[in-house]
Amino acid sequence: AKEAGKNTYQFFAAEMNAQAIERLQLERGLRQALERGEFELHFQPIVAAATYRLEALEVLLRWRHPELGLVSPVRFIPLAEETGLIRPIGDWVIRQACRQLAEWDCLGLHVPRLAINLSARQFEQQGLIMQVAGALAEAGIAAGRLELEMTESMVMQNPSEAVSLLGELKALGVRLSIDDFGTGYSSLSYLKRFPLDTLKIDRSFIEGLPGDGDNAAIAEAILAMARKLSFSVVAEGVETEAQAAFLCAKGCQLLQGYLFSRPLPAAELPAFLQQRSPQ
Ligand code: C2E
Ligand code: CA
Ligand code: CA
Ligand code: CA
Repeated sequence: AKEAGKNTYQFFAAEMNAQAIERLQLERGLRQALERGEFELHFQPIVAAATYRLEALEVLLRWRHPELGLVSPVRFIPLAEETGLIRPIGDWVIRQACRQLAEWDCLGLHVPRLAINLSARQFEQQGLIMQVAGALAEAGIAAGRLELEMTESMVMQNPSEAVSLLGELKALGVRLSIDDFGTGYSSLSYLKRFPLDTLKIDRSFIEGLPGDGDNAAIAEAILAMARKLSFSVVAEGVETEAQAAFLCAKGCQLLQGYLFSRPLPAAELPAFLQQRSPQ
């Protein structure tokens, strides 16, 4: 038993070491990734539940690491937050997204709106308003075509400051959305004090619909309340026709998930739109 314990310890030590090395490797790389142009944006369609028509694209960041290949944001966003690098990276995401939208406009591709994820550090940052306004002006994009996604915890951390920041963003004309709705600590009546447009029901509540009774009850309750408070609702992580049909029947207007498309590199968007447009 003693030997086994020792082996377990050595196993964990090696494991921890590998993790620490990877972290260091990622952190060092992250500092240079922007200047080396290793970031790219992918875009996941959000479609109308009734028609499956494209309503928006969610902008999802990817890092093409020279040795590790395509690194998921789940792995590097927390690190970017800890190191503060999320600020210049987040700034690049907003600017690049606006430039991309302007390019699609030039090509005559119809993309109504982009939804961009904000991190907590960006949300606290002085100058977020100027950053967003600058990116819009530079690309010549109307503010109403941008939606900013943030989590409940970001706005609930300091509600009175959030009310004024969100008010300023709203005054610019951008749309505001709560991401991963239902996983954080807030209530719809509280959220109503913020100038929000959209709630995104977290994927964990969409899983197993319509068979999963608990999730069905939660999804229906969110939809019923959101309707009364006039929020629009996006269901995230829709993977099956049965989920889509259930959500549509319960009044969810917008759907996002692998059923419609995975996140796409910009170059694959024309094909996606072509395949959907009525001939
Ligand atoms: P999120 O904002 O909740 O984004 C949705 C995630 O769910 C994406 O993962 C997307 O690829 C994935 N997804 C979409 N449809 C389905 C589906 O049908 N089934 C399943 N299983 N997954 C689906 P991704 O791209 O790996 O992003 C993970 C998270 O990283 C995002 O979660 C977001 O919190 C963060 N993130 C991504 N891009 C950015 C960014 O530019 N800035 C910031 N601050 N965070 C970002
Ligand atoms: Ca999101
Ligand atoms: Ca989400
Ligand atoms: Ca999520």
